Amino acid sequence: MADGCIFCRIAGGEIPAQIVFQDEELVVFRDLAPKAPTHLLIIPRRHVASLAETGPEDRELLGKLLQRAVETARQEGLEKGFRTVINTGPDGGQTVGHLHLHVVGGRQMTWPPG
Ligand code: 5GP
Ligand code: ZN
Repeated sequence: MADGCIFCRIAGGEIPAQIVFQDEELVVFRDLAPKAPTHLLIIPRRHVASLAETGPEDRELLGKLLQRAVETARQEGLEKGFRTVINTGPDGGQTVGHLHLHVVGGRQMTWPPG
């Protein structure tokens, strides 16, 4: 766990969250400030600061994150589609320094993103 990391604390059960799935490696919970009718975050339990901090040794974990997005969308009934987003670094709009994959759906998404 990284000191003061809010997502490490959610994964550790220290901060409450609406958790919809968890296993040894991943935790899926609802975003506190949803940007769409369905908005979930998928995180590794292990503290990884951002996608930019990952390497070849993280291939399996990254594959699991994406596969979990598919399972999450299915569970949430997003059969019309959904969006997956990983904001990375300041220019990428990352505000929490623990790798997380957004799964957003339940409305028509627009492109390009802001
Ligand atoms: P980022 O901007 O880093 O890509 O995404 C961070 C996300 O975490 C935001 O959508 C924000 O609403 C969400 N978030 C921040 N703090 C908390 C929290 O304490 N609990 C939950 N459930 N979501 C949070
Ligand atoms: Zn963390």
